[in-house]
Amino acid sequence: METLPRISGGMDLPRFKPGVQHPPVTIALPATLVFPLIGHQGRALQACVVAGEHVHAGQLLAPGMAASAKGVVRAIEDHATAHPSGMTAPSVILDVDHTRESAVDASSATLDLAGIVGHGGAGFSLSRKLSTVADRCRCLIINAAECEPGIACDESLLCHDAGAVLEGIKALITYLQPEQCVLAIESDKTHAITSFEDALKEGKATGEIRVLALHPTYPSGAERLLVNQVLKWQGLERLPSHQRPGDRGIACINVATAHAVAQILNTGAATQRLVTVNAHEACTARVTLGTPVQHVLDVLGALPVGAQRVRVGGPLSGFELADLAAPVLTTCNALTVATPVPEEPVLPCIRCGDCVPVCPMGLYPQQLFALAQAQDSKGLQRKGIDRCITCGCCDIACPSFINLTTHFRSAQSRLREHAETERAATHAEALHERHRERVARDEQRTIPGTEAPTRTAVSSALSRARARRKRSG
Ligand code: SF4
Ligand code: SF4
Repeated sequence: METLPRISGGMDLPRFKPGVQHPPVTIALPATLVFPLIGHQGRALQACVVAGEHVHAGQLLAPGMAASAKGVVRAIEDHATAHPSGMTAPSVILDVDHTRESAVDASSATLDLAGIVGHGGAGFSLSRKLSTVADRCRCLIINAAECEPGIACDESLLCHDAGAVLEGIKALITYLQPEQCVLAIESDKTHAITSFEDALKEGKATGEIRVLALHPTYPSGAERLLVNQVLKWQGLERLPSHQRPGDRGIACINVATAHAVAQILNTGAATQRLVTVNAHEACTARVTLGTPVQHVLDVLGALPVGAQRVRVGGPLSGFELADLAAPVLTTCNALTVATPVPEEPVLPCIRCGDCVPVCPMGLYPQQLFALAQAQDSKGLQRKGIDRCITCGCCDIACPSFINLTTHFRSAQSRLREHAETERAATHAEALHERHRERVARDEQRTIPGTEAPTRTAVSSALSRARARRKRSG
């Protein structure tokens, strides 16, 4: 097994992987599933089902969003979501039909990826990601890096279901025909590595997929960092900031997404994901997508009591959940039930520069912070706010306890909203301009044999037709 070089920046954090030693616990289907109509980067989705409609598992409820069980759409209405802002969003509320789903003929199941959203952090549509490399895939990277403490669902997947992961990867290889396929995983996940290598031997795929070991530095698994590490290992130039991995023929797919592909092949729909539940007893839960967090914790006897709160995601990249009715979706990798540690009072920035060397993206967090406070959008863009992966390393390093990442997250979403508004305004302006040109053209045009402009002639023809209809009727 070869080892990739350590990323620059980042942090070497203590290994804490709760519940990984035990096989996952399956959470029974709840009475109701919830599917917020929100796509990648908060884009609103248009439902393609209506209230009262019967749906089956795998049926699209909106572009890129599939039902995870059969049932009846009760309503499309506002519902709590797992979002740092605690916002609600229009959602498809599905009353689950608990009678047995008719068995799917696995041999006839095709690889329909339309409803799969990536199980990594960004929640990007899988089919869209693959379409960027459909012509030529130079390298397929399976991302099994999960270096944030407190999250162990991908590791659990490899330890307990490596065969299905391999099946999903093989399907992706058949689909993309990449020149090379690698699985990147931290060197300290020894059990997961052994389990995957055993699956490779069993599946006679040892030469087909190479396992690359990563230094367990947080956040080595961030897509851009990982792609650059693999490019460096291949002796190639790193990605310039304006390029995406797809531009270089690279598809970077999360290991849990590969498992979702296997679910489609075996059952016709990707309906579940593994979630690390870190409560009084840690475990890995197999949860049907759309299940309210409340139901998961209730089944596990882990509902918060007293001052306890529920955190979605890890201690660095996660956030406190505002409403337990929010559903578990593809990007939810961990739930932690604990009493929050009282926050230290925030002090002013002392310009110590401690946040700079830990930034894996080579940014200057203290400068971004000053610009975010001044709401200087142009300055933020100039200093690369869009390259910030909100990893939280600068927060840990900051002796003034400034929640830098929170500021960067809000600045990014403000800029995204601004860009959306600008795009919509440009589009509306172009439509209006086209309309004005058409009106001007119509006014110039004349009916052959007359000198009357077309618009006048057409309006008088319409009035004559209306008058005739009135007389006859
Ligand atoms: S949160 Fe952003 S600025 Fe801070 S260390 Fe991570 S990438 Fe750098
Ligand atoms: S670590 Fe905190 S106090 Fe030091 S420069 Fe960065 S933001 Fe300022």
